Amino acid sequence: MTQPAANPAELSAAERDRILAKAALFSPPPATLPDGRRDLVGLSREELAAEMVAIGEKPFRAKQLWHWIYHQGVTDFSRMPSIAKTMQAKLAEKFVVGRPGVTTEQTSTDGTRKWVFAFRDDQKVETVYIPDQEEDRGAVCISTQVGCTLSCKFCHTGTQKLVRNLGAAEIVGQFMAARDSYNEWPTPTDGSPRLLSNIVIMGMGEPLYNYENVAKAMRIIMDNEGIALSRRRITLSTSGVVPMMDKCGAELNVGLAVSLHAVRNDIRDEIVPLNRKYPIEELMAACRRYPAASNARRITFEYVMLKGVNDSEADARELVRLLKGIPAKVNLIPFNPWPGSPYETSSNNAIHRFARIVQEAGYASPIRAPRGRDILAACGQLKTESERKRAPRAAASNAQAAA
Ligand code: SF4
Repeated sequence: MTQPAANPAELSAAERDRILAKAALFSPPPATLPDGRRDLVGLSREELAAEMVAIGEKPFRAKQLWHWIYHQGVTDFSRMPSIAKTMQAKLAEKFVVGRPGVTTEQTSTDGTRKWVFAFRDDQKVETVYIPDQEEDRGAVCISTQVGCTLSCKFCHTGTQKLVRNLGAAEIVGQFMAARDSYNEWPTPTDGSPRLLSNIVIMGMGEPLYNYENVAKAMRIIMDNEGIALSRRRITLSTSGVVPMMDKCGAELNVGLAVSLHAVRNDIRDEIVPLNRKYPIEELMAACRRYPAASNARRITFEYVMLKGVNDSEADARELVRLLKGIPAKVNLIPFNPWPGSPYETSSNNAIHRFARIVQEAGYASPIRAPRGRDILAACGQLKTESERKRAPRAAASNAQAAA
């Protein structure tokens, strides 16, 4: 007897479970120092309260600590005056308020700042601050994995295999360390401007393959009594992990960016191999379902311009057709080639022609100027540079932005 076919919702739920189970295999190491003290960063409010109860304190201590850790940005218990001195000493005995180590910090002539952060097991990721050219604000681009499982063909991180997922503490920690670097503590309140005003989850890794840690980190960052960054100021970029896009929309409802890069499945299969699993039609359907999408909060489609591959007028028209009904904006990214890279960047003419067709159909399609080139701020470059210095025979740097 033939089995009845499972319905798509069940299939999607099964696929989500599979993705979450796989993510757990690449878990970060425990958040405990060799001396046994535990890092409090990255704990949810409930977990923080449980830690207080475990050392014989009242759960309300968690609220006080939350304020000092996430609103004031204090890392030293002795600088938390609302907590009694004896309690401060007890906390210092059992806990730390951690930050990733800064291996490299470089600031570009255009103001872009890039860090290589090292974690307790000496794994490293990159974080970049990209200031707005006109206003005193800017976005911090955060990494979510060490390496990446998806070998997008234009991206250097894709050539570094996945080492592990980052924990919530390591994800929040990148933003907190970036704010340390600009001395942006306490958290500006009452709508006063913030220099580090936005987060784009667009650094190393595919965030939806590390969903639980990313979600926990974002809940901490959005908490009103701490860093208090609105979901409207957070954008998660995915290569198109369709079953997780629904979950992300339902639970976090942050802004969405999609690394599209091609409008035909045969070409996207090649450039973004994840397309073989979740083809363009399924990806666009997931975008249509995404709850945060509205005219005020458009979905950003990233599109790297590759000469003779995805940059024709027909491609631009097909893109317009695919976007129909989606509140969308298209970022056109001129490809930044490296020696031996499989692609060349599109001509200026081709990029402008493409942009015009998309614009005339009613979608904003800015052409992205490369930022921070003098400090190799493109995805994957700086880490490669620092590795190359240690190991001169390692492969040459070959990066391109837009995870
Ligand atoms: S573009 Fe993003 S998802 Fe693709 S390989 Fe690079 S880091 Fe991974």
